[in-house]
Amino acid sequence: MRSINGIIIHCSATPNGKPFTEEDIDRWHDERGFARRGYWRMKFNQTLCAIGYHYVVRIDGTVATGRHEDEVGAHAGGFNARTIGVCLIGTDGYSPEQWSSLAGLIDGLRSRYPEAKVIGHRDLSPDLNGNGVVEPDEWVKICPGFDVKSWLVNTKIAPASALLED
Ligand SMILES: [Zn+2]
Repeated sequence: MRSINGIIIHCSATPNGKPFTEEDIDRWHDERGFARRGYWRMKFNQTLCAIGYHYVVRIDGTVATGRHEDEVGAHAGGFNARTIGVCLIGTDGYSPEQWSSLAGLIDGLRSRYPEAKVIGHRDLSPDLNGNGVVEPDEWVKICPGFDVKSWLVNTKIAPASALLED
């Protein structure tokens, strides 16, 4: 099993409430030159060739898998080796179903990886990044569009600023 010290929450940087899926992300990551290793692709989610995240939370609340948890992801340059990447579909507004699925997903991951810190992508300071793919400054600044620390402190109540109406 991979040793995990962080769970990083991302957004797909797509318009809020639009039903993109892990397959769309797989295509975009493929276009950006990401590639999964053959071994892992054979073993898990063969139809996904590139996706860098381990989980994708769709707007209907479905939690889809991307890479295997034991497979190194491609979502946070310099931090991929020991982290798990979770991506919310949207930019800074998520459905009630997404919030509730995210809470369940994070609870499950935390119980399996008690050492792991849960943070938002924007909490990673860019100057700490290694030589991995550097994402545009704007993306790093906002992703995932809410303050993960206060969300955790507030027992995972969706922040009003990032909650889409039903
Ligand atoms: Zn991100």
